[in-house]
Amino acid sequence: MAATFYDCIIIGAGVGGLTAGAFLAQSGKKTILFEKNDIIGGMATTFSFDGYTFDAGGTPQQDQIKMLQELGVADMVEFIPMGNPAIGMYFPGATFFGPKPIFEFIDQFKPFCSHQELNQLADILSTFERLDMEKYTQLNRTMSESKLRFLARLLRINPFELLKVLTLMTSSMDAWLKKRIDNETAIQILEFISALTLLFPCQRMPALLGVLIMSGFTGKLGGRWHLIKGGNINYSRALAAAMTRAGGRIETGAPVSSILIRDGCASGVILQDGRQIHARHIISNIGIKETMHVLVGDKYLEHVYIKKIDSLLPSPSMFKLCLGLNKKPDIPAPVNFKVSELDQEAWWASIEQGMMPDKPPLMFWCKYLVDASLAPPGKYDLDIVVAAPYRHRDGDWSKVKYAVRDKVIAVMREIIPDIDKAIEFEWMMTPPDLEALSGQHGGGILPIEPSVGQLMRFPDMETPIRQLYCVGATVKGGAGINGAAATGRLCAKRIAAL
Ligand SMILES: Cc1cc2nc3c(=O)[nH]c(=O)nc-3n(C[C@H](O)[C@H](O)[C@H](O)COP(=O)(O)OP(=O)(O)OC[C@H]3O[C@@H](n4cnc5c(N)ncnc54)[C@H](O)[C@@H]3O)c2cc1C
Repeated sequence: MAATFYDCIIIGAGVGGLTAGAFLAQSGKKTILFEKNDIIGGMATTFSFDGYTFDAGGTPQQDQIKMLQELGVADMVEFIPMGNPAIGMYFPGATFFGPKPIFEFIDQFKPFCSHQELNQLADILSTFERLDMEKYTQLNRTMSESKLRFLARLLRINPFELLKVLTLMTSSMDAWLKKRIDNETAIQILEFISALTLLFPCQRMPALLGVLIMSGFTGKLGGRWHLIKGGNINYSRALAAAMTRAGGRIETGAPVSSILIRDGCASGVILQDGRQIHARHIISNIGIKETMHVLVGDKYLEHVYIKKIDSLLPSPSMFKLCLGLNKKPDIPAPVNFKVSELDQEAWWASIEQGMMPDKPPLMFWCKYLVDASLAPPGKYDLDIVVAAPYRHRDGDWSKVKYAVRDKVIAVMREIIPDIDKAIEFEWMMTPPDLEALSGQHGGGILPIEPSVGQLMRFPDMETPIRQLYCVGATVKGGAGINGAAATGRLCAKRIAAL
């Protein structure tokens, strides 16, 4: 049989891999993508049961439309505005809604804060509005390219602007807030908003990410609250269509078991079914640790590099409870946070000890408010996410998930008192399920947590193995769907230009 040879092989059909595949195929490269699961999208996939549709993860921002236009598939994706309020935040003693212009948003803190504290809050929330986003965005783009390019770009930035960005990157959200505001309740509320959005603690979160999140609740990024009609799978399908229409191939149910290395250079892959496929370039869309330890093998790597990637920690995992309701809950916003106890340290201490707190802080989506097609007629979908330990102290997740579900429902009862009677469908996703979906050991939402200590230590897209590249959230600090896509595009453009 004649050997099969490609310009590029891509491992993994997450957003990063699909985007790379779409751009490479469109640039005329003979490209094939192997995905281990039967479905594409990785964490940007969507599950359907009994007429209900639930996303595995969150939602990309609307500015992705430009990239889809570039690929000629923008007509396959409909971004629906979430309306206003887009977000409701339920805290003990107060409920907040957003997005609102800064001063209206701050007005909601009046029950807790003195006049002076409200001014401190205004100062904090306007930090982002004062940043030159054009320059910050350029800087952010180069972060996953290479450290050299990043440094070169840094030097082109006005030193005062640079200092602001660097301060925000190197201080934790917690330390940064505590320096600027005296009111403990207001600090806890802002910290819970940031921590629930990214699902990792503010003690480790760079203030830059916290400030970016806040800006979504005030003026500047308010217009970006959108959902994808029918779920994120339609975004992943559009990327896949861009790839296959241009001649690229996608094989699902095709796990890659190793990357072939010849003279220090990646030259192909071996699939679990034994096939060997060769290519000039290999792009991995799975976590850096899995790519290097599992697919490449330590014998090809220097000890210093192994130590470096091993020291990078993933972000915490999550538990998801998806419900189908037969009665419309009285909730005005599609995105919601519910916090029963204002003690962020106790929350994370519990997770780190392998337990779920009795009243876990929740993030929950009522997407039916935006897209009725996600539930059968007259029914309503509720998608609840909580931070969760990968290993639960009380045993295997297949058993403890029912107790965790009960804790989640108990918190939901505080907002929807008759929720038990309304539930007619439920589905749970545990940390091991998320691990299986993305292929990342540990079931982290992000393969590398974009924490203060790690933000500048993210691996480069180019690896120490020649012709082997990594794309996706594993090479981009703070990346979600948009960031993962950006790395795929960048990698493809770089290879196409060679
Ligand atoms: C609950 C939750 C909420 C989120 N909320 C948001 C949000 O609101 N906004 C946002 O932008 N992002 C959000 N994210 C994060 C976002 O979904 C991810 O960062 C992004 O989708 C990751 O894309 P990726 O390209 O890095 O790869 P992944 O999605 O991790 O995909 C990797 C792919 O590689 C495949 N694979 C693994 N091993 C192999 C192998 N050996 N052979 C072949 N294939 C393999 C996997 O099956 C998978 O399909 C959320 C995630 C979760 C879980």
